[in-house]
Amino acid sequence: MTSASSGRARHFARRPRLSLLYSIPVPSPTFRRVSALDPSEEARAAMVERLVASRGVDDERVLAAMREVPRHRFVPEAVAGKAYGDHSLPIGYGQTISQPYVVGRMTQLLAVEPHHRVLEIGCGSGYQAAVLGRIARMVFTLERLSALARRASSLLKDLGYDNVSVKSLDGTYGFAANAPYDRILVAAGALEVPRPLLDQLAVGGRMIVPVGDEKVQRLRVIKKRRDHFGQEEKDDVTFVPLIGRFGRAAEDAEKP
Ligand code: SAH
Repeated sequence: MTSASSGRARHFARRPRLSLLYSIPVPSPTFRRVSALDPSEEARAAMVERLVASRGVDDERVLAAMREVPRHRFVPEAVAGKAYGDHSLPIGYGQTISQPYVVGRMTQLLAVEPHHRVLEIGCGSGYQAAVLGRIARMVFTLERLSALARRASSLLKDLGYDNVSVKSLDGTYGFAANAPYDRILVAAGALEVPRPLLDQLAVGGRMIVPVGDEKVQRLRVIKKRRDHFGQEEKDDVTFVPLIGRFGRAAEDAEKP
């Protein structure tokens, strides 16, 4: 007992010197908040590196855009923990947000430049449109399901992506009022390339569209020349169907 209390006494005797440490200012909570890394930033950097760049997407503008756009905000909260994984995810109404690699690959194949005006068909969550919006001057994106269009539009506004405009329309008609477009990206599986989209593409412009049956489609890159269309076929992909006047009939595509 005695020795223990004398030990404590020695400890207290040394304490004044140690207490000098306590006068070093502790960073204020505000300082810590500002300097802390956004934890999702790390997850995004890893996603871009492991799931996109390592598979051949090397356009630095595309990679930078994907490092910036907070993908977890574009998926329902219930699956937000999987937002940076190697998969597509459900976004409600039977639709999906594409796998990160597919977004990167399609955006790279589209060769988007900062002065471009881009049309997207199939806004869904708005994620692909946001990525395009980080690169292009202006993005118009069309979504046939008004609930998805409303959700994407308000999220894009919240995030400050003012150069992305969402409209709830059958995108197989394109959007003639703002045509021609330098680039067109179709984010749903088409049976055939909708004619209005070819018409609304600028000469010298480029379109990417998955074409095929409901199980598998092949990415087609179309280049519009003055007197003809050039065409190349790329990867096989699986998208939800493009439904509309120049696409599939809703009753065929939405069978239970
Ligand atoms: N780009 C989206 C994913 C696309 S999923 C994203 O980043 O989340 C395909 C979307 O195309 C679905 O939301 C579907 O409703 C929509 N779609 C299908 N046919 C369409 C049409 N004719 N016009 C506009 N949108 C269409």
